Amino acid sequence: MEKTTENLLIWYEKNKRNLPWRESINPYHIWLSEIILQQTRVDQGTAYYLRFISAFPTVFDLAKADEEAVLKLWQGLGYYSRARNLRLAAQMVVENFNGQFPASYEQLLTLKGVGPYTAAAIASIAFNEPVPVVDGNVFRVISRLMASELPIDRPAGLKFTREQMHSLIPTSEPGNFNQAVMELGAVVCKPVNPDCNNCPIQAQCLAHASKITTNLPVKAGKQKVTALNIRYAMVIFKDQIMVRLRSEKGIWQGLYDFPELTFEQDEIGCLHEAESLFATKMTLVKRSSTFTHLLSHRRISADVFIFYAEQLPILPKDCQVIALSALTTLPVPRLVEKMLPLAMNLL
Ligand code: SF4
Repeated sequence: MEKTTENLLIWYEKNKRNLPWRESINPYHIWLSEIILQQTRVDQGTAYYLRFISAFPTVFDLAKADEEAVLKLWQGLGYYSRARNLRLAAQMVVENFNGQFPASYEQLLTLKGVGPYTAAAIASIAFNEPVPVVDGNVFRVISRLMASELPIDRPAGLKFTREQMHSLIPTSEPGNFNQAVMELGAVVCKPVNPDCNNCPIQAQCLAHASKITTNLPVKAGKQKVTALNIRYAMVIFKDQIMVRLRSEKGIWQGLYDFPELTFEQDEIGCLHEAESLFATKMTLVKRSSTFTHLLSHRRISADVFIFYAEQLPILPKDCQVIALSALTTLPVPRLVEKMLPLAMNLL
């Protein structure tokens, strides 16, 4: 076994953090934790993981869950397609594999929402298959260990990292090795101020020897961020509010928000537009200050106009009227969650 591999395994055994999904090699638990941890840090992810396990103790429970219940538990993590895929993948496991997770990397890749990273994590940890994982922590550790300046956001950087991991991963403990590299990246080989003096592979690390640790890893360039402006109409009728289900394909599919107005109008224009859209006389009660939300490729800003309707409004496509008190039970994007107090304060 390579010295680097041996040192990493010994270090991991002594230093690994106690995390709930590390208590078993149940592929269902590993899969849930990996999907959740792609979205958030370990401390916040742990709470989500425990809630999911408690609500859906087995893959059968998740497979038969309502999509809305899954989205609600996922709320706040973003990338809601991942939550929808969780449920669909659970259904595939139940229907195509009799409720047993497939035991190979290649078969795991056939599950909805399971990409190379997740398949490698499950295959290596639950089934001892020596396939390397590659995530942000692994990119950083390998770039520094090998003093590689190949950009990690380009195919050549990914290929190089995979090859290095392949040459290091042992057949005896592939799961522990993958977790050791990721753990080292998370707690020692950090993006800023890596703790090289307490690193088990310092003697093998080429970046440390050349004093270039903080220059690595290299990235070629960032994705362009585009702006999206939204004007939401919160239409209140008695103690009810109009909501919209996002049925179209996209990052918010299956979540709820509110009907939209066009962006060009001033406040009087908005009132007239709303009266014509919902076919009732309205009063404009309030215009909110702007809410903003940043996604990886998009900066969203949203203004909210609160209207009281004199009569039950006409419902545009995908809209429905619900009790105001039920608003917080719906799965909503993070941006919309921020604006819910505006409506709840009207109760
Ligand atoms: Fe990272 Fe420093 Fe360890 Fe190299 S010696 S792997 S830079 S923590």
